[in-house]
Amino acid sequence: MPGPGYRFVGEEERANVLAVLDRWSATREVFDDPGEREMVRRFEEAAAGRFGAAHCLAVNSGTSALIAALVGLGIGPGDEVIVPGYMFVASIASVLHCGADVVLAEVDESLTLDPADVRSRITGRTKAIMPVHMLGAPADMTALRALADEHGLHLIEDCAQAAGASYQGRPVGTLGSAGAFSLNHFKVITALQGGFVLTDDPLVFQRAYSFHDQGWFPYRRDDGEGDLLLGMNLGLGELHAAVGLAQLAKLDVILGRVREVKRRLVEGIGDLPGVRRRTLHDPAGECASFAVYVFDDVAHAEAVAKHLGVKTLVDSPTHYYGGLPALTAYGRGDRSVVPFRAAAPGPAARIYEPGALPRTDDVLARSVAVSTGVSDSYLGAGFGVHAGSSPAEIDEVAHTFRDAVLACIPGIA
Ligand SMILES: *Cc1c(COP(=O)(O)O)cnc(C)c1O
Repeated sequence: MPGPGYRFVGEEERANVLAVLDRWSATREVFDDPGEREMVRRFEEAAAGRFGAAHCLAVNSGTSALIAALVGLGIGPGDEVIVPGYMFVASIASVLHCGADVVLAEVDESLTLDPADVRSRITGRTKAIMPVHMLGAPADMTALRALADEHGLHLIEDCAQAAGASYQGRPVGTLGSAGAFSLNHFKVITALQGGFVLTDDPLVFQRAYSFHDQGWFPYRRDDGEGDLLLGMNLGLGELHAAVGLAQLAKLDVILGRVREVKRRLVEGIGDLPGVRRRTLHDPAGECASFAVYVFDDVAHAEAVAKHLGVKTLVDSPTHYYGGLPALTAYGRGDRSVVPFRAAAPGPAARIYEPGALPRTDDVLARSVAVSTGVSDSYLGAGFGVHAGSSPAEIDEVAHTFRDAVLACIPGIA
């Protein structure tokens, strides 16, 4: 059971799914009915309301949400998007498949974009910055907002791992031009598969909508105003929306539980020499789905990870730029790994070699993630507790972690 939402699937999800099936079996006219995508509409309305956005567009994955948001913002060939070296492969692939270039930037001890490094990578072609709220915690949105404003750039938030997180009281996903979320089973809430885009900008919504639904204007009305687009078919299915709608109503309960689990675990682990928790830009606003420990010394992090049967964060095959051989190949000029692109990456974007981001490499090599809500071995979090753990289980895991650190760091026991 990878994410906490998965654990909360129950009668409400079941009732919504059955309602969809009952409606389908009760009528043969449903396909021309405006209520055809009723659960999708209800999910979109509920999500827009919960997160405080003017528009929500439900799509079939977090990856589709990123692509629809990028298309909505008009980002394409000739443009550069700054993306952190610690993200998910979809954060990078979505930009490249839109025809734009990815410019990688360093993360700091928050494991999210380092604003000072982002500044140094802005060029005349930069169109957007993509903060990725990794492991449930918001990036430094004050500094990134200031940079974006100063240079006239979009902020596209990748909120796939941070549904329900907030920054200074405002939900992530509403802090920039558009926010992209995932509803796959590793995330805070799940539709088993799915995603959504939030935006306040009606034109961004219209373009994203058209792209996700064969070029139609929103809700297939023919009185729409905006840009014509040749679209794709990326919409969320009714059955998934039925699950997502029930999960959305449980988001605050799920977050409350996960935060309580993390609070107890972190307290049980206590302070230890030679290691501290990652920087949080808004401790009260994070999802709390992981507790990340950053060691002073790479060897100590590796020893502790090994002791616990997990890996340090630099060992991720899907979340670390240096662990993406296809990206390296692309940077070396192999265009076949991004099949639809006409052009090789522009000069500022060509630094995709492992080692290109030494500070990111260093902090990830010193980091061990303990699961407190999301268990995902690709994120290095195969050890820890979950939303269903009892207080005694949490205390035991805290002791195991403490003992591992004391055993692995010589001279502190
Ligand atoms: C999961 C994830 C995505 C992609 O979501 P899918 O629903 O799997 O397509 C994008 N970005 C990040 C940071 C993720 O963790």
